[in-house]
Amino acid sequence: MSKKLDIRALSKDQLRDFFVDKNDKPFRGNQVYEWLWRKGAHTFEDMTNISKETRLMLENNFVINHIKVDQMQKSKDGTIKNAIKLHDGLIVESVLIPTENRTTACVSSQVGCSLDCNFCATARLKKMRNLNPDEIYDQVVAIDKQSRLYRNHKLSNIVFMGMGEPLLNYKNVLMAIDKITLDDGLGMSPKRITVSTVGIPKMIKKLADDNVKFNLAVSLHSAIDEVRSKMMPINEKSNLDELLDALRYWFSKTKSRVTFEYVVWKGINDKQKDATALAEYCKKIPSKVNLIEYNAIDDGEFQQASEDATNLYIKTLEANKIIVNVRRSRGKDIDAACGQLANKTT
Ligand code: SAH
Repeated sequence: MSKKLDIRALSKDQLRDFFVDKNDKPFRGNQVYEWLWRKGAHTFEDMTNISKETRLMLENNFVINHIKVDQMQKSKDGTIKNAIKLHDGLIVESVLIPTENRTTACVSSQVGCSLDCNFCATARLKKMRNLNPDEIYDQVVAIDKQSRLYRNHKLSNIVFMGMGEPLLNYKNVLMAIDKITLDDGLGMSPKRITVSTVGIPKMIKKLADDNVKFNLAVSLHSAIDEVRSKMMPINEKSNLDELLDALRYWFSKTKSRVTFEYVVWKGINDKQKDATALAEYCKKIPSKVNLIEYNAIDDGEFQQASEDATNLYIKTLEANKIIVNVRRSRGKDIDAACGQLANKTT
């Protein structure tokens, strides 16, 4: 028996062509497309304005692969972590993060991760595969539903800060964002979406060339090559100068300020010279800094630096007129915070 194709892997044009090949009208493709994306149909049966005969024909040719929320854990602070089961049984995690009057969805782009950032729990899992556009889209739909149910309002923001490196699944991430932002998908503004990357220069330049409208965040963690390479081996392949060059290109094309994500660790990057290096780096590119709290992972090798060290960074950055925010962790009690996503549900 031949394997049926996932119908949501087809673009709108491909779907229209499919119907033309079957001697139907291209318009039929639009109708089915709307059912698949905007209306979120889970079965061909659901497509009530499509004839029974056509539905059967679709059934014979395609499957609709939907994700399933397999387990849901709620934190004391309202954060919800979902273990998401994919059609092939693999699991990724997506997190709902509530803030005063917003809800942010933190979504995954890959199953596991191929990078070896030594402070991140996801790095301990090897990369199994990329997520498909529909698997990314469905995570957003699932969190939007939870937001309406538990927070009484719709989802307001999306961050690609779950499992995986979004720029190593470039095509699918961009296709998913298209569906999330287009009117025949969820119609969300790209300004409410942030893609976070370890900083792969070639792919950042590609984003700029592709004229994307979402925000870019780069996990920096040090503006000194030796220190950054120790924490993030990717820095050995492309160093801070190359990253800067790509970010300047990004800014020249998009005019969008980059956000640097930065953890201050005890004994690693908690000295004045580290803060000064960051300030100098930021001065070279329109940017702002999010200081994020370190979430310890099991082996306890690294520790969050003292409050004094954080204050030293704030003072140094502000003295250089660089915007700095301190981001408190959410959902720590259920291992849902940044870098804690490792399919631990017990
Ligand atoms: N691969 C992408 C997105 C996933 S990580 C990236 O690296 O940006 C999302 C953010 O969490 C990154 O800024 C990452 O550096 C940070 N992070 C990873 N492990 C962490 C931990 N244990 N505590 C706090 N932040 C962590």
